[in-house]
Amino acid sequence: MASVGIGLIGTGYMGKCHALAYNAVGPTFGDVPELRLEILADRTDEIASQRSAEFRFARHSTDWRDVVADPKVDVVAITTPNALHREMALAAIDAGKHVYCEKPMGLSLQDAIDMAEAARRAGVKTLIGYNYLHNPAVLHAKALIDDGAIGRIVGFRGFFDEDYLADPDLPYSWRCRVDEAGTGALGDMACHLVSIAHFLVGPIAAVMGDIHTEHDHRVGTDGSAQSGGAVETEDLAHALLRFRSGVRGTLASSRIAWGRKNHLAWEIHGSTGMITFDQEQMNELMLFRNDGDPARHGFTRILSAPVHRPFGQITSGSGHSIGFNDLKIVEVVHLLRGLTGQQDLHPDFEDGLAIERVIHGIARSSVDQRWVEV
Ligand code: NAD
Repeated sequence: MASVGIGLIGTGYMGKCHALAYNAVGPTFGDVPELRLEILADRTDEIASQRSAEFRFARHSTDWRDVVADPKVDVVAITTPNALHREMALAAIDAGKHVYCEKPMGLSLQDAIDMAEAARRAGVKTLIGYNYLHNPAVLHAKALIDDGAIGRIVGFRGFFDEDYLADPDLPYSWRCRVDEAGTGALGDMACHLVSIAHFLVGPIAAVMGDIHTEHDHRVGTDGSAQSGGAVETEDLAHALLRFRSGVRGTLASSRIAWGRKNHLAWEIHGSTGMITFDQEQMNELMLFRNDGDPARHGFTRILSAPVHRPFGQITSGSGHSIGFNDLKIVEVVHLLRGLTGQQDLHPDFEDGLAIERVIHGIARSSVDQRWVEV
């Protein structure tokens, strides 16, 4: 494949993040295959035509099936709400397209099983938008762990807290419904944490979960109780984790944690040290090593710099900071290299299914009040 034709479905928050990355990947990385912005779709002609011009796509449509059917499209990018991922991904795979899908994979574990199975059978390539994995700081943490900088891994602690539904007076929305969102804090946030845990520590084998909806009823957009509804998805998720390697861990996620904006934070405990990270300070890692004079012990703050690849391709200034949208550029270069056979794509639908097994396992464990093997 000399060049890659992209078809984008959905042009909201994540659609724009994708479009920024598609337009920036060439100038940022230079040595990447050509990317053609062929066609995008959104629900109304007004939005689709406006976004098409802004995002520099050649064509637009109000029917996402036009994207899937377009002969110039090699990869279908899905950035629509969760309830649409399964149908769109299966149609794209059926048409022989590669699929680049935002997380979570779908509403249910069965959705993810069906999507992984279809991709396997068709032999198409897939990538899921777990963009936090592409942070040079996270990649450096992986290199430190692999180099033995903290010894043998003995523990994992993970948090993902935000406050986007902390106000109990915020109105009822699609995020409150199982048939629209699938899950709450689990599928929206904790899945990112699981992707990090799988990348840095290894596969999770069993979970003991507890999920809870604190604000279990919300008013409608007109402020009245009658037009509101019962909240079906969880505000909070907690879990004990057992990794396949025997490592123990914990995970906690909340969408009602006042003051937290993107507190995707984790600690990897090792036999000789520890690494910690918080996405709200996404350009730094903290490293503790139990060596040297104990009087001088303390965490070292490692600020992202060109030496931490691929930071230098985004900015050549040490400590000059990259941002959330830059992670998508790194993800897109990975996509292009994967599609042109230069590297394997991860996390693909198989990796994504393993993540879905964990989050749905936590929900199941909470209901059954027992450990669940995932
Ligand atoms: P959004 O509401 O901002 O955007 C969704 C877009 O899809 C809108 O433009 C909407 O008009 C469009 N759409 C809806 N139905 C459609 C249809 N039938 N055909 C074509 N377009 C349609 O939502 P968002 O925040 O961008 O979230 C989208 C997805 O991205 C979700 O699955 C979410 O979980 C995921 N997401 C991922 C990250 C990340 O860090 N990777 C962050 C936020 C959201």
